[in-house]
Amino acid sequence: MRLGWRRSSRAEDRFETWIAQRHQARVLAGETNPVGSCPDEGFLQDLARKSKRIALSDPRIDHAANCPTCMARLLALRQENRSRQRKLVVILTVAPCLVIVVALVFVARYGVHRERLSANLAVVSQTVNLWHAGTFRGAQPGSLQSVSLPPAIVRLTIILPRFSEPGQYLVAVTRDQNGNGVVAEGSTKANANGEAETVSVRIDLRDAKAGAYFLSTTHEQDQTSYYYPLQIR
Ligand SMILES: [Zn+2]
Repeated sequence: MRLGWRRSSRAEDRFETWIAQRHQARVLAGETNPVGSCPDEGFLQDLARKSKRIALSDPRIDHAANCPTCMARLLALRQENRSRQRKLVVILTVAPCLVIVVALVFVARYGVHRERLSANLAVVSQTVNLWHAGTFRGAQPGSLQSVSLPPAIVRLTIILPRFSEPGQYLVAVTRDQNGNGVVAEGSTKANANGEAETVSVRIDLRDAKAGAYFLSTTHEQDQTSYYYPLQIR
């Protein structure tokens, strides 16, 4: 006959009971002295694990059941095994949770990333009306509605100031009002729209930091530039 308990808590209870009963029988029979010499650690470990390698008829079991030294070691080993199994249970329980958490974080990040990516590529349409802006030249920015643009790809439509000439215009976002530090620019032909001339350019402000800039329009034929204060959000 061989030890064939399954590793369940009920089987463990039975094992405990069996050892206790065995021991009790010995004690009642007055055979409290262990038979033979102490078995090696390997055997005790197998016994603690209820290894199938051990036959119940093995005399070393009798010894272990009656020897205080072996019994103490056996109990310690069983305690170790139990805590190891508990750790395994914890790992098996926690690991799938961690996988789920990691997956959720990944999905959330990827989702956010995708959202950002599409937000990044979205073209924002914005119209700036300079119709009433005074035509101040060069270093004199006109006072006008505050122009504020997002840090995005902007389809910028500008209603040029009254009396603006038709023709090709260069529209730029610059750091200063002398045309230095061009952040973005686009060139287009003005469209006559009733009295007004409008230009519509696509400018990329994705890399622009929030702050104060200038929006300039330059008529390509006479090279006159007008600068207007601009905020990038
Ligand atoms: Zn012993």
